[in-house]
Amino acid sequence: MIDKLLIANRGEIARRIMRTARTMGIRSVAVYSTADAQAAHVREADEAYEIGPAPARDSYLNMRAILEVGRVSGADAVHPGYGFLSENAEFSEASAESGLLFVGPPASAMRTMGLKDRAKILMQKAGVAVVPGYLGDDQSAARLAEEADRIGYPILIKAVAGGGGKGMRYVECAREFESALESARREAKAAFGDARVLIEKFISRPRHIEVQVFADSHGNCVHLLERDCSLQRRHQKVIEEALAPGMSSVMRDAMGAAAVRAAKAVGYVGAGTVEFIVDGSEGLLPDRFWFMEMNTRLQVEHPVTEEVTGLDLVEWQLRIACGEHLPLRQSQIVANGHAVEARLYAEDADKDFLPSTGRLEFLRFPEAVSGIRVDSGVCEGDFVQPYYDPMIAKIIATAPNRAEAILRLAGALRNVQIAGVTTNAAFLIRCLTHPEFRQGAIDTGFIERFSDVLLPNLSSPPPEIYAAAARFLVTGSHGLMTDAEGYNPWASGDGFRVSGRSRQVVVFEHIDGRLEVLVEFYRDRPEQYLVSGSAVRIPNGVTVSRVASGQIAVMYDGATFKVKCFDPFISADSHMDRADEVVAPTHGKVTAVLVEPGQKVKRGTPLASIEAMKMEHTLLAPADVCISSVEVTQGEQVKEGATIVTFSKDDAA
Ligand code: ADP
Ligand code: ADP
Ligand code: MG
Repeated sequence: MIDKLLIANRGEIARRIMRTARTMGIRSVAVYSTADAQAAHVREADEAYEIGPAPARDSYLNMRAILEVGRVSGADAVHPGYGFLSENAEFSEASAESGLLFVGPPASAMRTMGLKDRAKILMQKAGVAVVPGYLGDDQSAARLAEEADRIGYPILIKAVAGGGGKGMRYVECAREFESALESARREAKAAFGDARVLIEKFISRPRHIEVQVFADSHGNCVHLLERDCSLQRRHQKVIEEALAPGMSSVMRDAMGAAAVRAAKAVGYVGAGTVEFIVDGSEGLLPDRFWFMEMNTRLQVEHPVTEEVTGLDLVEWQLRIACGEHLPLRQSQIVANGHAVEARLYAEDADKDFLPSTGRLEFLRFPEAVSGIRVDSGVCEGDFVQPYYDPMIAKIIATAPNRAEAILRLAGALRNVQIAGVTTNAAFLIRCLTHPEFRQGAIDTGFIERFSDVLLPNLSSPPPEIYAAAARFLVTGSHGLMTDAEGYNPWASGDGFRVSGRSRQVVVFEHIDGRLEVLVEFYRDRPEQYLVSGSAVRIPNGVTVSRVASGQIAVMYDGATFKVKCFDPFISADSHMDRADEVVAPTHGKVTAVLVEPGQKVKRGTPLASIEAMKMEHTLLAPADVCISSVEVTQGEQVKEGATIVTFSKDDAA
């Protein structure tokens, strides 16, 4: 058995592997780049070692440094996770040479399956159907164009060494072929150091259905049923599920058998995924699926298989690596219920899914109640790094049937509350609740086809969001206050609630300049919010938090809106009556103190300035006042909410 396991990865997958190691009594050794020194996977491991600077090629791809950790820590096995070195045959050989058991398939299987053309040739020999195409050595543009004509448009150009959708180009007609070929080659060369391509017939409206396989070192091989990963964006998976909707048992048996044949043909050992492209235009038929590629590792979406089969795939990997037999026979592997996974990413759907990096200033995942699983690599306060995959978490919902699993997952995503980075949570909810998705009418073109309803429009936040922000400011409640001492010009201003009704105005920055929320307080009933004159009800489940730069994050239904007060010191005028101090709107350095005690100043007079993030903020007198005290000196660092000056209004100028 394994005593100590080195995990050559980071983030959620490192944590996932550790979790199983812990239940099996195996100690875990983490590695980390300098950028990850504080990361959750480092904190949770039994031991952790730094392996180099932030860029992956210097750390998580640095074989020598990782194997050195294996030696120093006395680990006896290494699990590569996915991504990084997981499909690197050289790494598996080097691990073996340095005495580490590699938790993965033999290097030879990785080599064969690592090249799509080689893999497809082998599959053809093994009697597994492959997508019609050209796999030849003649890589001249003329020959490739000729083959594309022969196959018939539309076609796909794929990098032979490809992965992660890179080096792949869709070509509609002959006219577009040449330029597509050039750019595919460029991308392939840059990403994989190998510019060779193959050509495939493009299956229209296809589904991506993959089969999880497991083989042991005694010649046994089983499959753990299928996953449907058809919901993709630029050939990358977004939502995955098990089992595939609309699957018949005839088709399942045919695909399972083909996957097992594929694994056996390469002498496979361990966990692998055989990916098929399926023409589902007339339902799922056993002669309408073709081998695409085999991923020789654990897959990001493995949790959906675990949820429906009740098996721990990492445990199986570790047992098989130790030479054990497969834990179950094919007939013992059955699915119960349905599981759906959504990949929660730090990315901006508005900006063409640009990764969004930064500090997770506020982070609440849905409660891990029964039927909800959250696999994540980050905690509140952690950073989403620009160097690595910007995945925040995988949220997985399991229920007795597909409809309920989808509902449960959408509900869980509505309870995702994140501020600091932009996420795709709202986009995922829209995908899940789209009627066609709910009906199981999915194919890989789904997201693009419905992009106008799935992608958010750039409109400004709805009125209830402003009302919730105003409530946070004037009552300092109903929100999870991460910063209870936070700057709040109205905090002390509610003493004037003397009559039956009193009012406060909060002014926000808005696309059209400014937006006013009028808050009316009543003695005998809850306050009322009028946004630009119209009464607004604040929905339940809204969470508000102050984030960096004095902005207010309002989180609701998986979405996060940021709003900002419109220069409150000036706009608050008469409502500021009771406030008697000016506080720092942000953490920063006092760059100037412009008044002294006893001085009488007019409303709007600059009192002090604070520099934060290279921006200077000038604090202005909220009214005509007399300065009572100055609480800071020039050059001092202040916290957000710190008192800068106090004043009185009584004997003001
Ligand atoms: P594919 O899309 O090739 O079928 P997966 O969906 O399993 O495969 O995704 C694997 C990808 O996940 C890797 O190619 C890489 O971009 C990304 N990745 C690698 N390491 C991590 C990690 N620690 N956390 C999140 N994502 C990762
Ligand atoms: P990668 O190694 O980058 O994951 P794949 O060969 O697995 O490359 O293809 C990635 C995705 O591209 C598939 O999941 C599917 O959506 C799409 N795709 C691949 N081959 C075809 C094809 N022949 N016709 C239509 N879509 C395809
Ligand atoms: Mg793939």
